Amino acid sequence: MFISKNPATEEIMAEFPEISREMLAQKLAIAHDTFLQWRETSFAFRAERMRRLAELLQHHAREYGELIAKEMGRPINSPLFSAVAEVEKSGKVCAWYAENAEKILAPEIVASDASESFVRFDPLGPILAVMPWNFPLWQVFRFAAPALMAGNVGLLKHASNVPQCARAIEELFQRAGFPEGAFQNLFIGVPEVEVVIRDQRVAAVTLTGSERAGRSVAAIAGDVIKKTVLELGGSDPFIVLADADIEAACTVGVNARLQNAGQSCIAAKRFIVVKNIAQAFIDGYRKKYEALRLGDPMDEATDVGPLVNEKMLSEIERQVNESVKKGARVEIGGRRRAGRGYFFEPTILSDVKKGMPAYEEELFGPVAAVMVADDENDAIRIANDTSFGLGASLWTRDVEKAKQLAARVEAGAVFINGMVKSDPRLPFGGVKRSGYGRELSSYGIKEFVNIKTVWVNPQPRY
Ligand code: NAP
Repeated sequence: MFISKNPATEEIMAEFPEISREMLAQKLAIAHDTFLQWRETSFAFRAERMRRLAELLQHHAREYGELIAKEMGRPINSPLFSAVAEVEKSGKVCAWYAENAEKILAPEIVASDASESFVRFDPLGPILAVMPWNFPLWQVFRFAAPALMAGNVGLLKHASNVPQCARAIEELFQRAGFPEGAFQNLFIGVPEVEVVIRDQRVAAVTLTGSERAGRSVAAIAGDVIKKTVLELGGSDPFIVLADADIEAACTVGVNARLQNAGQSCIAAKRFIVVKNIAQAFIDGYRKKYEALRLGDPMDEATDVGPLVNEKMLSEIERQVNESVKKGARVEIGGRRRAGRGYFFEPTILSDVKKGMPAYEEELFGPVAAVMVADDENDAIRIANDTSFGLGASLWTRDVEKAKQLAARVEAGAVFINGMVKSDPRLPFGGVKRSGYGRELSSYGIKEFVNIKTVWVNPQPRY
């Protein structure tokens, strides 16, 4: 059952049954049939619909923002990445690929011993997307816009707690004029994910979510030799060096850690500060937290909303309590809020050391772990002392030095004097156990194409 529950009030808003195996088979058939026609359409034809989709998202940003706020708890208008901003950003990724897909996927002419030789980028087929709840629209559109512009069709298995968002996304594609099978929402459970991956008509799978889910999906896809892209967890370092602008780092560090109540794969989670400025950073950072308002996501004045469910709340509570037992110090916050809803106080832990959950694990909630480094080399060592490698933020006034240090950071993105974020123009993805493959930009759209070489009249010898 897909249950839509408001995490601020614990009210059940809607329930949707899973579809039957017969219905699933029908949807896969529609996806395949549609693909055979969709891949023959021109870029202009696809772009017209993709632009309409972008417009719908822009014009109805408030309406879909409210759905996000109610279904997964992100504040409607917080200066930290708000629910409305997520919808607008989803529109931007559609507009960007409508504008740029044809250019990126234009055949590349390469000189060879043939009279003519070139590389073309052909679509693969129906692509399954297994998606998480934390950015319920953005995650889906950043997959779907490039996949569909390349001539593929999309199948969505969304997280089971955001069914209203899943349904709204499918409706948006239909309202924008896409054919029925170009993008379908599948109300299926985890066992059916395997059925879909193993179906011969399905060409590839992308998953954004936990390591556990990624490992399972990649193993099944590996068994049937299908391409996967995995965007998994992160424990991004936020490194503050001795010559950093501490005030700016504290200000940006709030957004970097607390957007979406900390439930972001690219949120800054480990604040690694060099020892001679450590206390100044902690004092400045705590002041920023004192001003934040935790509350109802539908209240315009709320900065930080609830966690998505009781499970995530209990998990962050355990990580804080165990870290404190092992010697971490609570600078501010540290507890769940009494009463209804899954609220946890924005928290800063200092004296975080190896062996504590706050050092070793991904903190998927509003908790910043502050660790002290001896110097910049030690800071980079700590930054890399994790199984994850998604993003990293590096603060120093010496930008040339930072550019050199960036090469030593084991992550898919390094932001110098800024927070980690995504943008359609630049690739997004991780290394190590944060996954593989890239989304967004020219790299993202080329993940789900057949890079096909065509030779005309080649020389008859090696
Ligand atoms: P999750 O449990 O892995 O769920 C994500 C999706 O995978 C859901 O649709 C879920 O369906 C499905 N799923 C769960 N187990 C599965 C399995 N064994 N086989 C196939 N599908 C499975 O992740 P989450 O806890 O909701 O999300 C938080 C995690 O996602 C964090 O680790 C976070 O860092 C990561 N994340 C990464 C990125 C990125 O871009 N790198 C972005 C956002 C989140 P059900 O809901 O039905 O279980």
